[in-house]
Amino acid sequence: MFGANSRDYQLQSNNMVVTIFDINKYALIPHQTHSMLSKREGEMITSSITSMLKDSYCMDEKTLKYMTRFYTMDEFGKLIFARNQHGRCGYPLCNKHLNTPNIDINSCGSMISYCNGLHYDCTNFVMTQLHEMPIYRRTGIHLINRYDLTKVNEENQLFQLKLFEEILQEKTMEYDLDTMTDELTKFGLKL
Ligand SMILES: [Zn+2]
Repeated sequence: MFGANSRDYQLQSNNMVVTIFDINKYALIPHQTHSMLSKREGEMITSSITSMLKDSYCMDEKTLKYMTRFYTMDEFGKLIFARNQHGRCGYPLCNKHLNTPNIDINSCGSMISYCNGLHYDCTNFVMTQLHEMPIYRRTGIHLINRYDLTKVNEENQLFQLKLFEEILQEKTMEYDLDTMTDELTKFGLKL
């Protein structure tokens, strides 16, 4: 069943972006008949998501947050490596190819490439938050309702992965507020 789904995915995807729906349909649903996963099944789920993303990218930030819950740091490292082998920037949210990679980082003895320094930071920031426990030891993690986006959003909040882009945005807003307060103080006004 898994093999057939995997082939379906390759036929249908044809370099399209990866969505939460895709992850559910092609990686999770084949294993949703039971709540306890074997080690092998857990590995199949993660490697199935990796095979979707190695030559594609996450549709949006929500999808990235969603897929990361199925990865340990080690597995995420393999995903980045697989993306590089397909000439893609290591950051799974990035749609860029590495025709002229402008940054090479030596991570754990292997060269990992990103389209720019920001995506190196973004990837490392995600990796520091990944679960240490593989999914087969987290009962029920794969049983998320495929069509219920509200539930997915709730789960995203529970998982609470923070993206580097969000931190930057918050910092920019804080900075703007500080600048504005300074400007107002100059004129003897208060915010
Ligand atoms: Zn990139």
